[in-house]
Amino acid sequence: MKRVAILGATGSIGRQALEIVAANDDLDVCALAAGSQPLDGLAASFPDALTQVGGDLRDVLDASRPDLVLNAVVGFAGLPATLWALETGTDLALANKESLVAAGELALEAWERGGGRLLPVDSEHSAVFQCLEGRSAESVRSLVLTASGGPFRGRARTALEHVTPEDALAHPTWRMGPKITVDSATLANKGLELIEAHFLFGFAYDDIEVIVHPTSIVHAIVRFRDGAALAHLGYPDMRVPISYALTYPHRAPTPVPALDLAAGLTLEFEPPDLDAFPLLSLAREAGERGGTYPCVFNAANEVAVAAFLDGRLPFLGIADVVESALVDVDGRRARDLAELEEADADARRATENQLAAVWP
Ligand code: NAD
Ligand code: MG
Repeated sequence: MKRVAILGATGSIGRQALEIVAANDDLDVCALAAGSQPLDGLAASFPDALTQVGGDLRDVLDASRPDLVLNAVVGFAGLPATLWALETGTDLALANKESLVAAGELALEAWERGGGRLLPVDSEHSAVFQCLEGRSAESVRSLVLTASGGPFRGRARTALEHVTPEDALAHPTWRMGPKITVDSATLANKGLELIEAHFLFGFAYDDIEVIVHPTSIVHAIVRFRDGAALAHLGYPDMRVPISYALTYPHRAPTPVPALDLAAGLTLEFEPPDLDAFPLLSLAREAGERGGTYPCVFNAANEVAVAAFLDGRLPFLGIADVVESALVDVDGRRARDLAELEEADADARRATENQLAAVWP
């Protein structure tokens, strides 16, 4: 029996994970945690689980000592739990990409010290992880992450001036929480995923490509030195990567249907429009600069997305304020969690100041 702590249990990933656990006799929930909504209904279904709402989620992890942590908290708030799992050598199923992006080398050092498994839940990274399994590093040439392109794919920059939060929340292929849905509309999500892939798999940024693939059937491609390319295909359904991370190294059945190839399957790919969606280039730049620049990118983006959803910032303003934060905030390397939290706070302050100055 694998005892799993589900952090972010009330969210989109958290609820799908609970569905997987409930259907699997080898998995049990030992802890449930969320940010604010009450957990009552969920707690009643898992009476043996310890619960926590808000506060420092390391408390419920210390108390429940899980075999595996599913971190499905949204945003930088997930960082302490990610570091707890990596440091203690507890297997970590990571949906909370923001924590790995922000912590970067600090997280990798904790992972090395702890020695547990780091299992990606993000669909593209789960796909890469599966395509890389059992391959020698020297045989692999590069990675390709696919992006749906979001609801505004194909629009020119000028056609994005007046889009509303409601427009941005209408994602064509995935049903997700609001923050990642807006990130998918700006392509900041793919930017975060680029940095996530760099840290998870150790590839240079030049060797990680992003390609737009509107139907989200191909989740990632790994290119090998002999010219072969392995792709991971499936319907866009997060229960597949969640189940793989929770049941690794086994592969449990899920209710997700097999791909219906006879129904006809057209796979289209196109390059991302970096002029309309500059956050993807900004993320690549932040990643290449290293230090705490990815943390600054993430923090500024979190603040900007919240402001956009509040109606305080236009859609195109999200990239503008992130770009300014990357200029204004010092991205020197953080030596510990305290310095990283300082970089995050500096970036948030700079972004709020920028918001107040330009969009009062
Ligand atoms: P969501 O908004 O649906 O849920 C977020 C969860 O985090 C909620 O349970 C909320 O209570 C909790 N939370 C928020 N702030 C918290 C805090 N300060 N402390 C503790 N808990 C807090 O989000 P989601 O769509 O499920 O996404 C969760 C994470 O998974 C994100 O990092 C996202 O990028 C990643 N992810 C999601 C999907 C998806 O399909 N939804 C796909 C890939 C990756
Ligand atoms: Mg993804």
